[in-house]
Amino acid sequence: MAGLAAAHELATAGVEIVVLEGSDRLGGKLRLGEVGGLTLDLGAESILARRPEGLDLIHAVGLDDMVVHPETVTASIWTHGALRAMPPTVMGIPADPAALAASGIAEMPDPRILPAPGRDISVAEFVTERLGRDVLDRLVEPLLGGVYAGHTDQLSLRATTPQIAALGEDLLTAAAENRAAATATGPVFAGLVGGVGQLPAAVAATPGIQVRLDATVRAVRRTSEGWRVSVGPTTDVQIVDVDAVVIAAPAPASARLLAEEAPDAAFALAAIDYASMAIVTFVLDDAVVPEGSGFLVPPVDGTFIKAATVSSSKWGWIGESGRTVIRTSVGRAGETTLLQHDDADLAARALADLRAAFGSLPDPTDLVVQRWGGGLPQYDVGHLDRIETVERSVAGVPGLEVCGAAYRGVGIPAVIASGRAAARRLLDAGTIDS
Ligand SMILES: Cc1cc2nc3c(=O)[nH]c(=O)nc-3n(C[C@H](O)[C@H](O)[C@H](O)COP(=O)(O)OP(=O)(O)OC[C@H]3O[C@@H](n4cnc5c(N)ncnc54)[C@H](O)[C@@H]3O)c2cc1C
Repeated sequence: MAGLAAAHELATAGVEIVVLEGSDRLGGKLRLGEVGGLTLDLGAESILARRPEGLDLIHAVGLDDMVVHPETVTASIWTHGALRAMPPTVMGIPADPAALAASGIAEMPDPRILPAPGRDISVAEFVTERLGRDVLDRLVEPLLGGVYAGHTDQLSLRATTPQIAALGEDLLTAAAENRAAATATGPVFAGLVGGVGQLPAAVAATPGIQVRLDATVRAVRRTSEGWRVSVGPTTDVQIVDVDAVVIAAPAPASARLLAEEAPDAAFALAAIDYASMAIVTFVLDDAVVPEGSGFLVPPVDGTFIKAATVSSSKWGWIGESGRTVIRTSVGRAGETTLLQHDDADLAARALADLRAAFGSLPDPTDLVVQRWGGGLPQYDVGHLDRIETVERSVAGVPGLEVCGAAYRGVGIPAVIASGRAAARRLLDAGTIDS
């Protein structure tokens, strides 16, 4: 999506673009697939609407009419043996003490007022020192696990939860005030009727963008006129000569491609770890499920799944099918053993957790296990320093840009912003003619 956003920005400025995609389909972590006769998102499924970039791109490619918002945003935490309504929080920091107490999710913390740390620290260190372990384990950890599939004792406060850092010294008071301000604006998330997985193809249809699939880039080298890109299997390498290059691959592939021309960037990118995960989507007939959009699970509770979304309750266009669609996610950074089960076993374990949380459920009519090896980059402590190194190194090489989820935000609007910014820098530098 980052690469396509860059391509869109450049193509609309009149630049001819070739998108070289290594796999046999466009979209990366945006992917549609069929489950029980329904076409559904098997990767990313919602777009943060509080940032403009996702909806801007949807508008630019003419998908405005398809934009929808969730029918329900009431989520639960499955802990202490029950589904418990999630109290209002700012990224897990309780914003309503009475609602937290009523939820039974975590002990009401005895807060400590501490100054902001002078350096980047982990989310766990920051929250535990101020609000104790229970709030971290049962609110912050599941929320961040949902976004980054990571562990708060490694995730960088500055890079992953600047909104928590910005609450200042008195976290609980600031969270209560911040939440009141936040609820005043419109819907937080948006989707597309038919799935957000339609966006990549719509962007790729922009005039001026040419797409080549099964075109793995092996090397990019500067020449006296511009750039030479080597594409395809080593036994049959094809050369593409271009004026400039935007590398929009995940960090490990980008590191390999940058090794010759921007070695400092390559070195910094190679240090970024990725979490692998799987999304198991179930379609059930005649199922009865609790109200709400689904639930998150605190990892301390040791369940197999880390979250479940009742897609048929969340999205009206799925609910209209009359089927019950539930997607569960499995796996966080470092938990590779969880994913070593075969598909049938993985789905059976996920279904067992769903039944434990929801009560009885009929056998699924159909299910699909979608694995996402290297799904989400981990913004560990010090991440933003690493990214500054990458940006400095790449900025020293004319006609070269990088973008994507490895840098400054993993969500769809953030990666679109990253792609657009990379394109703008190329245009502003005047290295390409439009
Ligand atoms: C399971 C899952 C669910 C998610 N859900 C949401 C959600 O609901 N909302 C949200 O905002 N975000 C979500 N995210 C995060 C978000 O979808 C991703 O961070 C984002 O889409 C990544 O976009 P990208 O362009 O940076 O990278 P990618 O999507 O990883 O795309 C990179 C592309 O580069 C290609 N490539 C790699 N190497 C080469 C090479 N050498 N040559 C050519 N091509 C190459 C890959 O094949 C791929 O197509 C989710 C992520 C996952 C894994």
